[in-house]
Amino acid sequence: MNTIQIGGLVSFTTIDYPGKLACVLFLVGCPIRCAYCSNPHLIPCESGEYDPEKIFDWLKTRVGKLEAVVFSGGEALMQGPALFEYIRRVRDLGFKIGLHTNGFYPENLAAASDLVDWIGLDYKATKSNYEKLTGVNIAYERMIKSLDIWAKTGKPCEVRTTCDPRFVSSDDLRKIAHDVASRGIKNFAVQKYVPHFEDDEHKTSAEMRNAFFNDDDLRDEINSLFETVTWRE
Ligand code: SF4
Repeated sequence: MNTIQIGGLVSFTTIDYPGKLACVLFLVGCPIRCAYCSNPHLIPCESGEYDPEKIFDWLKTRVGKLEAVVFSGGEALMQGPALFEYIRRVRDLGFKIGLHTNGFYPENLAAASDLVDWIGLDYKATKSNYEKLTGVNIAYERMIKSLDIWAKTGKPCEVRTTCDPRFVSSDDLRKIAHDVASRGIKNFAVQKYVPHFEDDEHKTSAEMRNAFFNDDDLRDEINSLFETVTWRE
């Protein structure tokens, strides 16, 4: 694949790059299969329905209006060199570059680290539940490698955990937060699991999904580990 493949676009957002007005490009292709995936149409690595050159021309019209461009997915780093080249061109327009990643491609993250200003990295579960959640047995090790690579850059990031009660318990969340903090990460986010499909609704209750957010001891403990913790309810 020689050109970037884009499957979706959010033209304006205030929540996908901290403190910046941004747009989000959703790249097709993902190597893992999360049980709660909200973008299953982006998983196959097929031709994207957006013309990257038309998007680039549109980005030129956003100079001075937006501050950052966020690459999301799917898993954007799956597109390797085509992604790096596109990011270089977008950077040259003056935008900050954000990246949402599941951490599956640590080598590509290292290769892109000079081009990317901020990342949001998913730490989806403890090691023992990672394969059950993602369907891939090496996903945990790769994510941890990515986390450590980014921590060494000293650049800002947010590590986030979506609390799907089928795969994450309160005790798991506590362990994840301690592990993330021990690796030198300053910003953590706890995200509420929102079922996207009817059959998911039947496997978790609102009470189970809210439990992470209603536990004051858990919140205090996690808040004490980081400079910022965002509780996304
Ligand atoms: S990493 Fe994201 S796009 Fe890939 S399967 Fe998981 S939720 Fe879906």
